[in-house]
Amino acid sequence: MKNTLVKFIFITGGVVSSLGKGLASASLGALLQARGYKVKLRKLDPYLNVDPGTMSPYQHGECFVTDDGAETDLDLGHYERFTGVPAKKSDNITTGKIYSNVISKERRGDYLGATIQVIPHVTDAIKDYILSDINDEDFVLCEIGGTVGDIESLPFIEAIRQLGNELGLSQTCFLHVTLLPYIKTAGELKTKPTQHSVKELQGMGIQPDILLCRTENVIPNDQKSKIALFCNLKSESVIEALDASSIYEVPISYHKQGLDYEVCKHFKLNILKKPNLSRWKRINEIQKSSDGNVIIGIVGKYTTMIDAYKSLLEAINHGGLANNVKVTIKWIDSQDLENNNQNLSNIFKNVNGIIVPGGFGERGSEGKINAIKLSRINKIPFFGICFGMQMAVIEFARNVLNLKDASSSEFGKNKLPLIGLLTEWQSKNGLVKRNENSNLGGTMRLGAYDCKLLDNSFVKSIYKKKIISERHRHRYEVNNKFASDFKKNGMIFSGMSPDNTLPEIFEIRDHPWFIGVQFHPELKSKPFDPHPLFSSFINASLKQSRLL
Ligand code: GLN
Repeated sequence: MKNTLVKFIFITGGVVSSLGKGLASASLGALLQARGYKVKLRKLDPYLNVDPGTMSPYQHGECFVTDDGAETDLDLGHYERFTGVPAKKSDNITTGKIYSNVISKERRGDYLGATIQVIPHVTDAIKDYILSDINDEDFVLCEIGGTVGDIESLPFIEAIRQLGNELGLSQTCFLHVTLLPYIKTAGELKTKPTQHSVKELQGMGIQPDILLCRTENVIPNDQKSKIALFCNLKSESVIEALDASSIYEVPISYHKQGLDYEVCKHFKLNILKKPNLSRWKRINEIQKSSDGNVIIGIVGKYTTMIDAYKSLLEAINHGGLANNVKVTIKWIDSQDLENNNQNLSNIFKNVNGIIVPGGFGERGSEGKINAIKLSRINKIPFFGICFGMQMAVIEFARNVLNLKDASSSEFGKNKLPLIGLLTEWQSKNGLVKRNENSNLGGTMRLGAYDCKLLDNSFVKSIYKKKIISERHRHRYEVNNKFASDFKKNGMIFSGMSPDNTLPEIFEIRDHPWFIGVQFHPELKSKPFDPHPLFSSFINASLKQSRLL
């Protein structure tokens, strides 16, 4: 830890899960930034997986990938989108990673002679992690995953309690996010669950400094005072967090309720200085003034778990902001598109643009290929991302180049693995090698890689740059062998890895918008800096909607 004056804000959650702690943390980060402070946001996850990379998107939602190649919790996506600070590998830790580090140290003999225990060894490892990799930041916001009282999160709670003691009030602040349920029949907001949750936290030695109470109704002053009285707080420290119609309204709404003010007051910082919220005001104005309606069809497998597409949905939303238009998502389950050709055009009747996003496994892939064929032939804007790009290459090979056996090795052995396992590639740290027997956890091609854009290509005109850097998360890759056949038939690989071996982007020119990318551009889009590919895609879809 270089900055000895850095201030830590620990964010815990109580009462129920899914309270939007991630958004609350991201919003507070944005507000502190708007006051001129440098912030870093971190997530401490209580589960035993070393990282969320091996978890099903149905269970855990999207896996957010950082520039430095970590597979992390989706809350890190919120942090980046709200603050613009690129998340790092060191910004997400899990109980699994902490334990596996402690156990390998034990095996190495680093603790020789000692009995290894949760307190102090595991809690020390957590504290070391919280204090590590901090440079000139003014604030480090640490969100603790889960809900207070969960067995798994106890070591994290104990570690932050110790840090509170060691660093003192001038360097630590505890923010607890709770829920005030509204009981319709009584016409009342209920404070009891919040009281219990704070009691639980106090029982573990933590007195929250600020309460952020999620509520669907305004909290009457007497209720605030009641919460304050029972939770040992001042009533100004009980902040109302009213449901918002858009997540980008949250920073301004929390500011109006005094959240950043209370934090600054706690740390005895200048409270008179007003934060510069122009960025957030502008986004809200655009959101309010947007009209029209572009319908984007997302063809995927996890359509019942929309958290699996969190960054994608946000990037689409940002594309809408860039074009001042409202975007509606139509979820299309790829499995419904298999053997269903006669119904296909019906399903896509009002759709102005089609996205086939990232995905894994054979199930539903033929449905995706059918959707891609429909968008290619009917000239509906199409955006293929990672798996979506791979499926588009297969579709083109089968239906235009007449290579009927074209497939992916991800689906097992096949005659023409046009999409094959990546066995070696150049990274910033040298050559990386893999084979069929490699571990599945953390071994994909992960993180930011440069990509060269072809002169006079459509993508170059969109990015307005020659070299771009985008984030990857994939095990398979398009085989370059057929590049010239593709080119002769109108599909060009317009983005390549710097060593010219890996096709990263393709485009079809004789089409209003047909682009596939091997990376995940959605991970870098911000509301105040929409990703150029999403802005351009929504623009093309908007034009398409006007043709209907
Ligand atoms: N399953 C594909 C691969 O591993 C695509 C991954 C993805 O879409 N992120 O290459």
